[in-house]
Amino acid sequence: PDLNLKDPGLLTDANMIAGEWVRAPKGGDGIDVTNPADRSVIARVPKVSAEQLKKAIAAAKAAMPAWAARPAKERAALLRKWYELIVENADDLAKILTAEQGKPLAEAKGEILSNAGYLEWFAEEAKRLYGDVIPTPSTDRRILTLKQPVGVCAAITPWNFPNGMITRKAGPALAAGCPIIVKPASQTPLSALALAVLAERAGIPGDIFQVVTGKASDIGTEFCTNPDIAKITFTGSTEVGRKLLRDSADQIKKLSLELGGNAPFIVFEDADLDAAVEGAMMAKFRNSGQTCVCANRIYVHEAVVEEFTKKLTEKAAGLKLGRGEDEGTQQGPLIDDAAVAKMEEHLKDALDKGATLHTGGERSELGGTWFKPTVISGVTQQMKLAHEETFAPLAPVIPFREEAEAIAMANDTEFGLAAYFYTRDLARTFRVAEALESGMVGINTGLIASEVAPFGGVKQSGLGREGSKYGIDEYVEIKYLAVAGM
Ligand code: ADP
Repeated sequence: PDLNLKDPGLLTDANMIAGEWVRAPKGGDGIDVTNPADRSVIARVPKVSAEQLKKAIAAAKAAMPAWAARPAKERAALLRKWYELIVENADDLAKILTAEQGKPLAEAKGEILSNAGYLEWFAEEAKRLYGDVIPTPSTDRRILTLKQPVGVCAAITPWNFPNGMITRKAGPALAAGCPIIVKPASQTPLSALALAVLAERAGIPGDIFQVVTGKASDIGTEFCTNPDIAKITFTGSTEVGRKLLRDSADQIKKLSLELGGNAPFIVFEDADLDAAVEGAMMAKFRNSGQTCVCANRIYVHEAVVEEFTKKLTEKAAGLKLGRGEDEGTQQGPLIDDAAVAKMEEHLKDALDKGATLHTGGERSELGGTWFKPTVISGVTQQMKLAHEETFAPLAPVIPFREEAEAIAMANDTEFGLAAYFYTRDLARTFRVAEALESGMVGINTGLIASEVAPFGGVKQSGLGREGSKYGIDEYVEIKYLAVAGM
């Protein structure tokens, strides 16, 4: 299919391995990449062989010393160039992303531009990877620290942000002096491969930024067991995160894990209700509910729950469903049938246990994997969706009476990625923010990600932070020098 790209060279079906573009053998094994809007096949990408994967890892290892030895200013300039090329080509990258993932074109471009910001940010941070000179308890020695790259990194990324989850990881890795090998989600590899095209054009060596596609479990196992991989950075499900942690235990690998969430969204009685509805729309329905920081449970004080639900219902019912590339589309299709099945399971469970349906509740007449944005009320903690991430356009409203009750329900989960609340009370702002068990808290906002802020979770939502001055710490080791004999 013609994606109508200004630069057709950005659409490639080849992997970048050891500095070379590698295609799937003709008629051989490959993975079809389909458009979730109509299931048409866009491209066929390779299933990397075991030898090719080992070759990629060996190439990264061999290339690392020279990369790490380059002055930070040079690595920074290359990252900056890559960032600029992404910005210049954002329209084409958005078309590729929408074709393989389904989200509205404007959202795709938003993902690309905001996450390219991580390359810009870490290009700047590369130059500021300072060590310390520490005051010493004795006069005959000095104590210094150096920050050194952790080693060859492997990234495994998800389909919900096919472009942005890569720049977030590659930025700090390359800035710190580490090569990185990316395995994108099989549903959405074309955005990753397009990024590799631009990395090459920016002058980043093809053994420093590599992309391989193929069977997730085989690639994951190689990453976890190959001694030349020092670090794995993963965004995806908690289940796969646990497996990676387990499988890399023998080699004590460093891991950054950005796993599932189950974000609570609390609306207190003193909130600006219209702002809270706006925020809930962003936090719930962005990417058709398929983000790890999506509001999964909406707790609303009983004094305002009726009015809130009414307003939320009106807005949700007004969302325009359609193909991502069509003008005005606000809700694309869900990624696949399994995503729709989970939505239906959570909805049925809630309705069976007494929830009330306000809007949606069924698949769209567009067919495929479109599901109508859905609002339900009268939800309780006994329902499945209170404990599992729905990852779909289902907004469940749960009433509460007391602040302490809202906090207790919000924290009643093994996850702790994002949380949101709306209030105009300053004391409550700090009280609640401090009590919520989550890595990130949006206060009077439903949008929190930024390259200048630390993104990540507590509890079973993960390990480590992406972005901010802390983000690069995940890609360095601190070496302590005791200098004596003076
Ligand atoms: P999702 O539910 O969002 O698809 P997954 O955790 O299954 O979440 O997928 C996130 C990424 O992890 C994808 O790149 C996927 O291919 C990869 N993945 C899935 N299973 C495994 C596995 N056993 N080992 C390594 N990576 C995996």
